[in-house]
Amino acid sequence: MTTISSFNKFTSDLPEQEHLMPVLFVGHGSPMNGIQDNEFSQRWTQLAKEIPTPSAVLVISAHWLSKGTLVTAMDFPKTIHDFGGFPKALYDVQYKAPGNPVLAMETASLIHSVKAELDHDWGLDHGAWTVVRHMYPEANIPVLQLSIDYTKSPQYHYELAKELFDLRKKGVLIIGSGNMVHNLRMVAWDKLDEPGFGYDWALKMNETFKTLIANGDHKSLINYAGLGRDALLSIPTPEHYLPLLYTLGLKGAGDGVSFFNDRAVAGALTMTSVRLGQAQVN
Ligand code: ZN
Repeated sequence: MTTISSFNKFTSDLPEQEHLMPVLFVGHGSPMNGIQDNEFSQRWTQLAKEIPTPSAVLVISAHWLSKGTLVTAMDFPKTIHDFGGFPKALYDVQYKAPGNPVLAMETASLIHSVKAELDHDWGLDHGAWTVVRHMYPEANIPVLQLSIDYTKSPQYHYELAKELFDLRKKGVLIIGSGNMVHNLRMVAWDKLDEPGFGYDWALKMNETFKTLIANGDHKSLINYAGLGRDALLSIPTPEHYLPLLYTLGLKGAGDGVSFFNDRAVAGALTMTSVRLGQAQVN
């Protein structure tokens, strides 16, 4: 790790763009989505064609938890197979997108509330590559990750996201990658192949989340513990939910809200995803 306090005035050579880059929250679901051609992965592929080609992708993944805030800064991030018990074909995937160490320094220097550190050990975990490889299969766009400090509150993550806003002006596509409803202990494993199956509490919470997001009621979403039993069942641990708060923290005044992959899976998961940004470009 490298301290970047001396880079406070650091800027990359990425030019400012005319339009703000959209921001996404993507429900990533099973790692198998990384190699399956299904309704979710097809939507990711299509989405990449609907938005401007980014200068880089920055992913805040549920699967990179750390003490402190880190930004990947290697030239070539490795593909991390951070799961167990899946077919060999999934372990064989190598997504060879480059990194962008200069952009990593700029990203870290944008964060003033804490001292963000540059990381040379991580890479791309499955919260990042299983999604991004469907969006940019040629692996020709740099991909970075920002870690989630597990010691911090939901409000902290929401506020930290705001510090990244200028990246949107430089064509960086920021993706929060998790799942809004994510309760593995209650997953109906025998229903994995029946997309759309959700328990009542999961479906109800999915609708509540969408309403609050559409209404811009970020306060209620940050204080999700106050949303009752359905919320506690949906968010038994926060790591798959917090990436949503990064996405919402990056919302600009003129951004519209739309949803995609709005589906429950295996009872206790939702793939529901959010796109913030101006109206369709193409
Ligand atoms: Zn996950």
